[in-house]
Amino acid sequence: MTVLFWDIDGTLLTTAKGGVPAWEQAVREVTHKEFDLTMFRIAGLTDYQIAVRTFEHLGVEAGGDTLQRMVRRYEQLLPTFLPQRHGHVMPHVREILVLLRGSDAVRSYLLTGNTRGGANAKLTHYDLWHYFPDGAFAEDARDRSTIAERAMALARRAAPVDEERVFVIGDTPHDIDCANAIGARTIAVATGGYSLAELQAHGAWRVLEQLPPPHEFLAMIGVSSPEPDARMPT
Ligand SMILES: [Mg+2]
Repeated sequence: MTVLFWDIDGTLLTTAKGGVPAWEQAVREVTHKEFDLTMFRIAGLTDYQIAVRTFEHLGVEAGGDTLQRMVRRYEQLLPTFLPQRHGHVMPHVREILVLLRGSDAVRSYLLTGNTRGGANAKLTHYDLWHYFPDGAFAEDARDRSTIAERAMALARRAAPVDEERVFVIGDTPHDIDCANAIGARTIAVATGGYSLAELQAHGAWRVLEQLPPPHEFLAMIGVSSPEPDARMPT
């Protein structure tokens, strides 16, 4: 079984920063302070890591359940704020997922620094949630590599994994690091905040401006294309 682990923001889709006002309102409600998330370069940080930095910046004690309350409130607010920005699914993403749907040879999972609730809100809004049987999400402020380890574990539980054929698809050096942590190859796309040169310098297996059309994508990962049958979009 070939396994694909997909990052969300900057890779599957962009919310056009639709999460920012949800985050800032959640901060306001929980800490009673104003916060400008756009001051931080957050690409590649997990939601919990962003929360820790937010609290540090505001000088607010993140003890007890404050961090959890803040993140849960953000998840609740996302569906309200996402439609206010014009984000979009990245080029060829939906076409690739449609082609892979029901594949016996390839399985896709989410591997993301979003929380499960945040990922669900974003992928539901862009109608992508149903392409993924499961995923590994941020559950605490630990390093992204711990999420990658959980992703590998769930892929192995579902079916035998060909260890040579595990790919992380992401848009930041953090994705490349977490791929390296589990011995996976990174397909890095410059559709997020990082340039081709930055991703190249970080040692991704492939670095692309954007994902290629579905059949080219399959050729790149060494999977033969399924027969053009009911799986093809019409
Ligand atoms: Mg990303």
